[in-house]
Amino acid sequence: MQRSAPPWILAMHPRILLPIALLSCLLAGCGPSPEPAQDTKADANGNTSASAFTTRLNAAAGAALPTDTADIDDASRGLIEREQNLVIESAITGRRWSAAAFEFLQGEPPASVNPSLWRQARLNGMHGLYKVAEGIYQVRGYDVSNMTWIRGRSGWIVVDPLTSVESAAAATRLARKHLGNDPVVAVIFTHSHVDHFSGVAGVFGGSTPPDLRVIAPARFVEELTSENVLAGIAMGRRASYQFGYPLAPGLRGYVDSGLGRQPLSGQSSFAMPTESIDHTPQPLVVDGVDIVFQYTPESEAPAELSFYLPAWKAWCGAEIVSRTMHNLYTLRGAKVRDALKWSGYIDEAIQRFGDMELVFTSHNWPVFGHDRAIGFLKGQRDTYRYIHDQTLRLANQGATPREIAEQLELPAQLSSQFANRGYYGTLKHNAKAVYQFYFGWYDGNPANLDPLPPVDLGNHYVEAMGGAAAVKQKARDAITGGEYRWAATLLDHLVFADPADSEAKELLAGAYDQLGYQAESGVWRSVYLTGAQELRHGPGGAVLDVRSGAAILERVPLELFFTAMATRLDGPRAAGTTPFSINFVFTDVNETHVLQLENAVLHHQAQAADPAAAATVRLTRPLFLRMITGEAGFKELVFSDDIEVEGSRIALLGLLRLLDPADGNFPIVTP
Ligand SMILES: [Zn+2]
Repeated sequence: MQRSAPPWILAMHPRILLPIALLSCLLAGCGPSPEPAQDTKADANGNTSASAFTTRLNAAAGAALPTDTADIDDASRGLIEREQNLVIESAITGRRWSAAAFEFLQGEPPASVNPSLWRQARLNGMHGLYKVAEGIYQVRGYDVSNMTWIRGRSGWIVVDPLTSVESAAAATRLARKHLGNDPVVAVIFTHSHVDHFSGVAGVFGGSTPPDLRVIAPARFVEELTSENVLAGIAMGRRASYQFGYPLAPGLRGYVDSGLGRQPLSGQSSFAMPTESIDHTPQPLVVDGVDIVFQYTPESEAPAELSFYLPAWKAWCGAEIVSRTMHNLYTLRGAKVRDALKWSGYIDEAIQRFGDMELVFTSHNWPVFGHDRAIGFLKGQRDTYRYIHDQTLRLANQGATPREIAEQLELPAQLSSQFANRGYYGTLKHNAKAVYQFYFGWYDGNPANLDPLPPVDLGNHYVEAMGGAAAVKQKARDAITGGEYRWAATLLDHLVFADPADSEAKELLAGAYDQLGYQAESGVWRSVYLTGAQELRHGPGGAVLDVRSGAAILERVPLELFFTAMATRLDGPRAAGTTPFSINFVFTDVNETHVLQLENAVLHHQAQAADPAAAATVRLTRPLFLRMITGEAGFKELVFSDDIEVEGSRIALLGLLRLLDPADGNFPIVTP
């Protein structure tokens, strides 16, 4: 879409969006898998079938999987009701979260899906209301995340009310049907990612009651927006790859994120925390329930908590433990996470709440029994710790990120536990994340200090290899030999040298198909298949709807918007401009900010108006947001009656015209 992506949103987690064409792959003949396919016949969308190599690799991956069936028992345990025809419709886009769209996941895995991912997707798809223990219930599979209901003395405590108002309302209807109508007296937001709080109003039929207790980690409000505001536009574009938004669910399409399915792009809501968790242990009594909170910031999220329920001997691990290896680095792009701290919090929980009999989490399904709970926690703890320690060990021997990622393997004790496998994060990109955390992007090799950019590099490589035809032949040979990674490298150079070469693009898309089909990680699969999709059909658009994040947008401090605005200033065009300043007076929130352009940099201060400013603009915060999210055109706004300008409207327009439009739909797989 043309307007700039709203910065804050796109990022924290799977969310906001939907696949564009929900059922096309299902309709396009991705039926139950027949014999392992040996040809590369494409379906109606262009996705090739699994090659003989992929078929063999996936069969071998299936045969090597642990035989432990405890997950299926855990994920099934306590089912109260499964709504067979679950459909949740977005009030904003009209799009649907539909269980039926994933019915293809029945039966044995086809050659085009890694059997391990297939298994995870089926477990994540087991939607319904579950009794976790007497007095603890979860609605799972109504969103990427889980909503938990804990019985209090007079009512209910709800943990993590999902991503959208619509999904939370649907989950609440199901819960209410079986749990009755006692009031929800408190809500716990475990962390600052949108899939854990933004549906809150849906629990209450549209608006949260004024006396609601809302418990959240310290810095929750600051962090729920700031993690990704400045990089939000590019992050949103990249998120469409990570979560496969342009893909239809299907055997050659979207399967799962590893944590759960893509959430519905619905209405967002918010409730201001009334109590903050900022140390460990922090005991609180909530509606008669003793809760011991653990503060776990700068781990999976910048603001996060977990908690223990001594009466149940149950630990809510929020998202610092999941039934997958999580991301130390997310492929959409974000600051890398601290593996050492993260692992340390899990260890702290083991030490502090060592008598636990039950672990429940904000994604996936619970773990039952003391020994299994502790075993699960130790596995998660040591997975992150192992990646951390071994990456540094190898780096200290001189290995560089790709070399480390290629040789690192989890020990069998860890990889044999399904929960430690890379369904969301992967060992390869997490090892690179640890390297990045300590060393940054440069691997120390001078050849990599200042290499040519992709188009130049592509041109040189193609020429050095004897021209486009020769490169394609080498790529075909690589594909025939099952060397899809090498084929992708060759063809990527060729496509960047000549993006009009449709044969090269189709070959590259075919290599990405196979890499996607082989991936155990749901997000790797989505990344490859989205790349293939865009090579065949062009960029799919940012698929964003500004309205879906409105309630979150309101929480962003104005300061942050001005900082974000500065990152959109077109430096070269601004370079010749004589320094000037403009006052922004927000009449509704009583704030004045002075914006100053100097040395092609936009500075801002929350301070009294500058009397020498070229203009003083009086406007409201909502109007300002419309302006900077691109919802309203600059010119139209500047000359509208909604804002009052004292001084030069031309100066204001001049400033706004120096800002990049940034439509958030830039090419990724082509130059
Ligand atoms: Zn989450």
